Amino acid sequence: MHFSKPGQVNVLIIDDEADMSEFVADAASALGYTAISVSDADEFVRAYSTAFDVIILDLFMPKLDGIEIIRFLHENRSGASIILMSGKDKSILHSASELAAERNIEVLGVLEKPFTIDQLEVILGKFTVRKRVPNDEQGSISAAPTVEGMRRGIANREFFLVYQPQFDLKTGKVSGVEALVRWQHPTRGLIHPALFIPLAEESGLINKLTEFVLEEAMSQLKRWQAHDITMSINVSPTTVVDLDMPERLDALTKAHDIDPHKIVIELTETALMENVGLYMDILTRLRMKNFNLSIDDFGTGYSSMQQLVRVPFNELKVDQSFIRQVMNDAECRAVAQMSISLAHGLNMKVVAEGIEDQETYDWLKELGCELGQGFLMSRPISAEELEMRFLS
Ligand code: C2E
Ligand code: MG
Ligand code: MG
Repeated sequence: MHFSKPGQVNVLIIDDEADMSEFVADAASALGYTAISVSDADEFVRAYSTAFDVIILDLFMPKLDGIEIIRFLHENRSGASIILMSGKDKSILHSASELAAERNIEVLGVLEKPFTIDQLEVILGKFTVRKRVPNDEQGSISAAPTVEGMRRGIANREFFLVYQPQFDLKTGKVSGVEALVRWQHPTRGLIHPALFIPLAEESGLINKLTEFVLEEAMSQLKRWQAHDITMSINVSPTTVVDLDMPERLDALTKAHDIDPHKIVIELTETALMENVGLYMDILTRLRMKNFNLSIDDFGTGYSSMQQLVRVPFNELKVDQSFIRQVMNDAECRAVAQMSISLAHGLNMKVVAEGIEDQETYDWLKELGCELGQGFLMSRPISAEELEMRFLS
């Protein structure tokens, strides 16, 4: 790795030709940027963090190519802008830019090799320093984690839960909370779940993590016993099977003296539909034991009507990508509206997630959507803060 002098805008350069990436880093730092160069995928993943404003990447690399990096940035909700470099065919540069744009990644420009420092300067100059996301848990520096780091983190209790309140839209009262996991990494700061849940799922560590989340959420709910609220918990589909979920949850609720009616198990639509058959009996048994089942991120997957009728869900959460756009996008409005009436037709409660303004709240309430959560009411917060603001 090669570090250059500090500046206001952080640039990460990745090119499998180390000479090339170092050259670009030197040029960028000569122009006053803070630049780091890496020359392979592993180094990239290690160096990556949301602190980077601009990522300059080579499209053609042997292990992790530019397209995969675009996907990585998208999945890790990177806010960075990118500059594409390539020595090859211009049309590929063009399709790559389109792909990035589709994923809401800003492309500052493309550099066809060989290029001059002047060209680099012009393109880098297009980056305007944006205000970083307000510094709640999302705005802090995060980095791509490793399996080893996660294993240690679980053992060292670096993981903790925050809670986002859910409201009865009619009465405006808190009806429940959703438990959301966070990782306070000792050196990298707060890490967002989008950065480690996929890794946990691939490596099998998700079971350990879920155990922790379940235990923690149940203890918290026990402390809130005097309040009539539910606790929603996200689980990955593999854990549902691996952990013998019905028995495990049964044991946990008994140990904490909690009514299963108060627990809502959330599974995402996409995960679920990949293997409905496998989950069906477990989910049915969960319902028989009186746990609530919620289908999360609804609208992002492809459930057929038939599948929806078959799975024993009693709550549907309309994905935030639709809710956030409801007021200015007719298609999102249609999806939200249809999801609500579909759920009602199937006797399910509806939760809208991602309510960011009053207009959206009122519109959803008007449509008969029962529950809602979103930044308008509250971001995910600590148990103590939630108690102070909403339960006292
Ligand atoms: P999710 O279950 O769909 O959780 C809702 C996400 O939407 C949360 O992100 C929350 O902060 C965000 N959100 C809520 N209201 C708003 C809003 O008004 N505007 C915007 N822009 N965002 C809003 P978070 O906490 O980062 O969680 C991301 C995802 O990570 C969750 O999506 C869930 O799928 C997963 N996750 C979180 N905790 C766990 C866990 O303990 N286990 C598993 N398996 N997955 C988890
Ligand atoms: Mg959820
Ligand atoms: Mg969701």
